[in-house]
Amino acid sequence: MTNQTKEIARRRTFGIVAHPDAGKTTLTEKLLLFGGAIQVAGAVKSNKIKKSTTSDFMEIERQRGISVATSVMAFDYAEKKINILDTPGHKDFAEDTYRTLTAVDSVIVVIDVAKGVEEQTEKLVEVCRMRKTPVIVFINKMDRPGKESFDLLDEVEQKLLLRCTPLSWPIGMGDRFQGVYNVFEKRLVLFRPDNKQGRPEETIEFNDLEDPELEQLVGTAAAEELREEVEMINEVYPVFDREEYLKQEVSPVFFGSAVNNFGVKELLDCFVQIAPEPRPRPAEERQVLPNEETFSGFVFKIHANMDPRHRDRIAFLRICSGTFERNTNYLHVRQQRKMKFANPTSFMAERKEVIDEAFAGDVVGLYDSGNFKIGDTLTEGEELHFKGIPSFSPEQFRRVYNGDPLKSKQLAKGIDQLMDEGVAQLFTRGVDNAQIIGCVGALQFDVIQYRLEHEYGATVLYEPMNLHKALWVTCDDDAALDEFKERRRQHLALDKEERLVYLADSAWTLQMAKDNHPKIQFHATSEL
Ligand code: GDP
Repeated sequence: MTNQTKEIARRRTFGIVAHPDAGKTTLTEKLLLFGGAIQVAGAVKSNKIKKSTTSDFMEIERQRGISVATSVMAFDYAEKKINILDTPGHKDFAEDTYRTLTAVDSVIVVIDVAKGVEEQTEKLVEVCRMRKTPVIVFINKMDRPGKESFDLLDEVEQKLLLRCTPLSWPIGMGDRFQGVYNVFEKRLVLFRPDNKQGRPEETIEFNDLEDPELEQLVGTAAAEELREEVEMINEVYPVFDREEYLKQEVSPVFFGSAVNNFGVKELLDCFVQIAPEPRPRPAEERQVLPNEETFSGFVFKIHANMDPRHRDRIAFLRICSGTFERNTNYLHVRQQRKMKFANPTSFMAERKEVIDEAFAGDVVGLYDSGNFKIGDTLTEGEELHFKGIPSFSPEQFRRVYNGDPLKSKQLAKGIDQLMDEGVAQLFTRGVDNAQIIGCVGALQFDVIQYRLEHEYGATVLYEPMNLHKALWVTCDDDAALDEFKERRRQHLALDKEERLVYLADSAWTLQMAKDNHPKIQFHATSEL
């Protein structure tokens, strides 16, 4: 086996998705503790926007700073190299999360036992389902009173459309939470609260639940209940099959309490056994396999530098095939030119380091002075365009004006670069050349205004617009398309890639347009 083959085979690149507050940051931190990537709890800062109606820009900056630090967290565990890609939970940053999901090979979904399946989780898992990304479910906060376990699994199956198979099962919950029975390994893991620094859990091999020792350990009532429930699990849920999990036909479920560091090791130990190696990635031209001889990768995220004196940014590149090397010429496919990188960076939770090489499955940070945008591909020379990096139909719109005539160049450049970062989308309306910015969440407008001022010295003014949606338009029939363009002229714009976009005033006008122009296709997402 070559070194490259070996290195790729030991990579496990995944994302943790959750509705805000379910415990994603806490779980991430505990995983890093096990991996030795951090030494103390509290080292991973939550990148949540704390106030929902924020015009508190320090908060936005704080969040951006943390996002750079937590974009990728890598550590070694059980001879695997684990890369956790961070996914913002706040819904105004959902686009960022969707794009990050194109760069992972599997996902862990965290669910709060009391709240059950929440809105953001539904949306994020839908994206995973579309891509057939394998999913593991972690039910968190078992030390708190919550929903009954069977009800919760029903909810997961109904709302997330995932077929479950529990690999661990809780013994009580809230005040009466005593631990979990590991159905997969036939072990009893007993709960000791306040195990924040990650001491090993008390684990007892327990092959036969009929063994009277169970009563001694958890009490008669709990022992009876556990026996009944495990019997039911065996009847109701499929026996775990890794192949089915990898095809996303079944999702293993774990129970635990991240803040108490309980059930986390169970989760991690199982994860390293079952989670997929780097998976093939579809490009327009062909399927790209991780272990190919030549390197290829794509940019899924761009972060502006936090230091205003340096305008450069960090582009995050997922390596899809081969080995990436420092100071080596690669082809920037969109720009058709060679580039090499003197300081490619890897991220290890608290520290960054310059790396000499990285392998398929890894993410490297490339310093960039404005050459990259999301979706860009690097290769050793082959024309490849990786597919599936989405941009979404925005739902909030503002017309933009230049607030400082002396700074129009700065404004144009700033807007251009922020759009490349994927903060929002810019549309130019055909009839009057109006510049319209569309976002998924309203918070982005504040971010854009603030950053234009602080990073580019430009002033942007907004005028609210009453638009319902912007949808990409395609049509195979040229005559029908011409007719549509003529009749809906007032409502048409081009995006930055010069693709045709229909700006719908309301759901009603959109429906009218669909009815009147049946040959036109309207798309809520477009691939970058
Ligand atoms: P995130 O928004 O998903 O990143 O959630 P956090 O990790 O920041 O957790 C949200 C809150 O839930 C914090 O106050 C955590 O301390 C708390 N929390 C996390 N895990 C548990 C748990 O297992 N039990 C309890 N009781 N609280 C938890």
